[in-house]
Amino acid sequence: MATALKIVPPEDKVTSFVSRTHQMLIHGKWTEAVSGKTFPTYNPATGEVLARVAEGDRADIDLAVKAARTAFDSGPWRKLTPSERGRMIWKLADLIEENLEELAELETLDNGKPLKIARAADVPLAVDLFRYMAGWATKIEGTTIPISVAYTPGVQYLAYTLREPVGVVGQIIPWNFPLLMAAWKLGPALATGCTVVLKPAEQTPLSCLRLGELIQEAGFPDGVVNIVPGYGETAGAALAAHPNVDKVAFTGSTEVGKLILQAAAGNLKKVSLELGGKSPNVVFADVDLDAAISGAASAIFFNHGQCCCAGSRLYVEDKIFDKVVEGVSEQARKINVGSGFDSSTDMGPLVSEEQLNRVCGYLESGFSEGAKAVVGGGRHGDKGYFVKPTVLVNTNEKMKVVREEIFGPVVTAIPFSDPDDLTVQANDTVYGLAAGIWTRDIKKAHRLAGQLRAGTVWINCYNIFDAALPFGGYKQSGWGREMGKDALEMYTEVKAVCSAM
Ligand code: NDP
Repeated sequence: MATALKIVPPEDKVTSFVSRTHQMLIHGKWTEAVSGKTFPTYNPATGEVLARVAEGDRADIDLAVKAARTAFDSGPWRKLTPSERGRMIWKLADLIEENLEELAELETLDNGKPLKIARAADVPLAVDLFRYMAGWATKIEGTTIPISVAYTPGVQYLAYTLREPVGVVGQIIPWNFPLLMAAWKLGPALATGCTVVLKPAEQTPLSCLRLGELIQEAGFPDGVVNIVPGYGETAGAALAAHPNVDKVAFTGSTEVGKLILQAAAGNLKKVSLELGGKSPNVVFADVDLDAAISGAASAIFFNHGQCCCAGSRLYVEDKIFDKVVEGVSEQARKINVGSGFDSSTDMGPLVSEEQLNRVCGYLESGFSEGAKAVVGGGRHGDKGYFVKPTVLVNTNEKMKVVREEIFGPVVTAIPFSDPDDLTVQANDTVYGLAAGIWTRDIKKAHRLAGQLRAGTVWINCYNIFDAALPFGGYKQSGWGREMGKDALEMYTEVKAVCSAM
């Protein structure tokens, strides 16, 4: 029985933040768009307008890039010691932690995810990411290299490398983890001493704008982080193409990733891309069945399936196929779909009407090709953008639901008998972001982990993230890595210095 008591109302602080005029942050000042335009952001649980936000386009991107360029070339930022830079990033982490509740509620309002998830995952992971990257600020080192130059006999050299910040970075992020994606992008950029123009997703700009205020409070000099909300086709495209941007970092669809790449060609800016996925999750018959069933369910249903690494293709050894399908379907039936502010909710709405239509369109296409839903299979309710957790069987590798990223709570379950065929099937995708393996046979697990073409392989677990663990894709799932030491390489240039002695 739903009671009013279980609904957690947004904090007053959040209500007053949401009801403000939302501007953009350029060179330390909150400003209207040059065009004076604004765009709406919606509450996906109701479809109602939550707030209006300044709509940045090319002109605003120009101003923001100018601010970031000045901050990089001649501002106080480059004169800070690495230790001072690290402390500032740490302070930002502290401020996010102090404002955890407010940021979590903003995330639930704007994105729809359950508040308990935003509190336990999105915000704490953002805090941890900034703390991890704060530590790196003092550890970005070059090497000394003994050289032997054959054509200058007798001359000795001192040769070393410097790792320098790449410069002005344009960062374009999606709506599935709005604050956390901002942290993944900003953390390494700030640790290495870059300056940034960040464009949040049009669906979820609010937590990023609040983050902008905390960035100011942490004491980052003006222009180091500029935040320009707006649409991808205008603000995003202008940022990706801008001749004064040295690098662009993007998370989103593979389709837009390819556009970013084309736009970046003009000045050959560096590019890192974290794109889509269609990740295989493989369950062998020798498995701990309960663990595998829970793991397979959470691999696809976490964040309503709106995860680039969602375990959306479930391959189960034929001997236990029916049991696993029934187990995952049972878990799906138990998922409480509703408002993110209801403490009993396990799954909120999808982020937008567009996403609702896209996911329902995939379901229709699956059914028309012969797929069958054991559970779910369509929209939940008629208000807001909710979709029922869905398990599809009778699918094959030719169907769109098996080949394409659905980005919703929909898993296709497919039986296998031969492990060699399984490896071929699991790798039969243009994507290569993640994979899961469930077995008690550790040799089998590591052998398969080596054969899967994916940037992350989870064994007897799924969706385990850590600021220290690199994340990114093979094939069309992207270029480069987020998090971990590897992320820093994407934000630095190597300079070789050679001095005759
Ligand atoms: P997009 O790839 O369109 O959006 C991601 C970001 O890119 C947003 O900030 C968006 O802006 C921006 N963008 C859009 N077009 C351009 C452009 N031409 N130049 C520069 N930036 C641009 O994803 P969608 O939101 O349309 O979602 C579509 C599908 O993408 C999903 O169904 C899912 O399959 C995949 N996706 C993957 C994600 C991942 O984590 N890898 C995350 C989100 C989506 P705007 O603010 O206008 O949206």
